[in-house]
Amino acid sequence: MPAPVEQIGGGRTTVAPRPDPERSAAFLAALSARLPGLAVRTDPADLEAHRRDETVNLEPPMPLAVVSPSTAGEVAEIVGLAAAYRVPIVPRGEGSGLSGGAAAVAGGLTITFRKMASVLSIDLANLVATVQPGIINATLKALVAEEGLFYPPDPASCDICSIGGNVGTNAGGLCCVKYGVTRESVLSLEVVLADGSTIRTGGTTVKDVAGYDLTRLFVGSQGTLGIVTEVTVRLRPIPPPKMTMLAFFTTLTQAGDAVARITAARVVPCTLEMMDGFTIRAVEDYGHFGFDTTAAAMLMVESDAPGSAANDEILTAERACREAGATFTVASTDPAEADLLRQGRRSAWWAIQRLGLARMDDVGVPRSRMPDLVTAVERILAEEGMPGGTFGHVGDGNLHPSFIVARDDPDASDRIERARGRVYAAALELGGTVTGEHGIGLAKRDWLERTRGEGAVRAMRAVKGALDPLGIMNPGKVLPD
Ligand SMILES: Cc1cc2nc3c(=O)[nH]c(=O)nc-3n(C[C@H](O)[C@H](O)[C@H](O)COP(=O)(O)OP(=O)(O)OC[C@H]3O[C@@H](n4cnc5c(N)ncnc54)[C@H](O)[C@@H]3O)c2cc1C
Repeated sequence: MPAPVEQIGGGRTTVAPRPDPERSAAFLAALSARLPGLAVRTDPADLEAHRRDETVNLEPPMPLAVVSPSTAGEVAEIVGLAAAYRVPIVPRGEGSGLSGGAAAVAGGLTITFRKMASVLSIDLANLVATVQPGIINATLKALVAEEGLFYPPDPASCDICSIGGNVGTNAGGLCCVKYGVTRESVLSLEVVLADGSTIRTGGTTVKDVAGYDLTRLFVGSQGTLGIVTEVTVRLRPIPPPKMTMLAFFTTLTQAGDAVARITAARVVPCTLEMMDGFTIRAVEDYGHFGFDTTAAAMLMVESDAPGSAANDEILTAERACREAGATFTVASTDPAEADLLRQGRRSAWWAIQRLGLARMDDVGVPRSRMPDLVTAVERILAEEGMPGGTFGHVGDGNLHPSFIVARDDPDASDRIERARGRVYAAALELGGTVTGEHGIGLAKRDWLERTRGEGAVRAMRAVKGALDPLGIMNPGKVLPD
């Protein structure tokens, strides 16, 4: 008789240690003794400030304490001690995440990287830069631009999110349609593992296929497999200034049709974004950009192609929009004017947030199913009697439906939960995903298996169990219990 085969990754997720006040106190004392220069913050205001990220509708517990190490060596010491005392750890960037990835865990130490926010090197010969995780995305962009170089990943939150957080979530953004998401720009990572040891993944060569691709494994793992202490990113020559075109439509279907026509015309714009009528009106009210508030949808198309190619791309896209029924288009070559048009799209979330308790969600579908997704979201919002707008990265098939309820609505939480569940189900039915770029985090764990399948989740549990056998790395995130 052959021996029974144990199922890979069977059973539950690695069980996180239970909070224990005595062990926690001993850990904090040991931490202060080992790293006397490290401020271990435990005052309630500090803890409250590090409790949540930007995800509405989550009520995480207070962290045990917050620390901001200055070196990778300190991070390794902290993690080693946390492993010894079985204390959970939450790595946190700027807390702009929209899936609860950086939300505190009970009895857990939150580690921030504000003191590890430098560019360590810019290698002009090889077009790579090595940075610490705390650097803000827009700061990195600006610093490499001084060298005539370009770091493409461009989340709409680029002014307020860190590279460590971008790696944690595999952040997308506005120019993925041409340049890909964060993982396409990450060559190598330095990672502190759950036992306090440090490894380097990948390298600085353009081609490198030695062994398993650990870089891709850590990118998007939301701090559940290790802590990133250095990131080596790929840079490109800075592209020419963008040409920007806006097109307004009387129906969402026309906008969807325009996207299909732009794609069919073989145009690969660097940005292809959409806002629905609700979002256009909210944005106009917020920033007075001069948008057509009677429109049902707006597309923003940008090209950074060299020379006359940008003009050609924008003209082709404009023609596709008109053929699809656009009532009005406006194009700009002047960088200041283009920036103003872009700011309209970037301010979508801030504009919607003012209207009540708002939750920005994140789903993706194959690009050809975009119009079906938009229609489904509209129907669900109408049936739930809930205002809300939809905007997002239509060129990637990635949309952000937002759900708005009155701040004093006693059923706010239930109503948002019901609506978002229906939208996830619709995205899955269309062959899509419950998250295009924000991650599973804490908010969508219950949807992971429905999205990826039981077998894939078992394999994920096996990876988690191998790299974090004590369950101390950001427990309760990504994998369902
Ligand atoms: C207005 C607005 C617009 C947004 N637009 C976009 C967009 O266009 N595209 C997009 O993708 N996202 C967008 N986001 C979401 C958010 O900005 C991104 O998810 C971003 O990557 C989070 O970065 P952060 O520094 O705030 O990280 P946090 O929210 O602090 O953390 C995010 C995750 O990364 C992990 N993490 C942080 N640092 C490390 C580290 N050093 N090592 C290991 N894990 C780590 C955390 O544990 C957490 O799981 C938007 C958010 C807002 C509020």
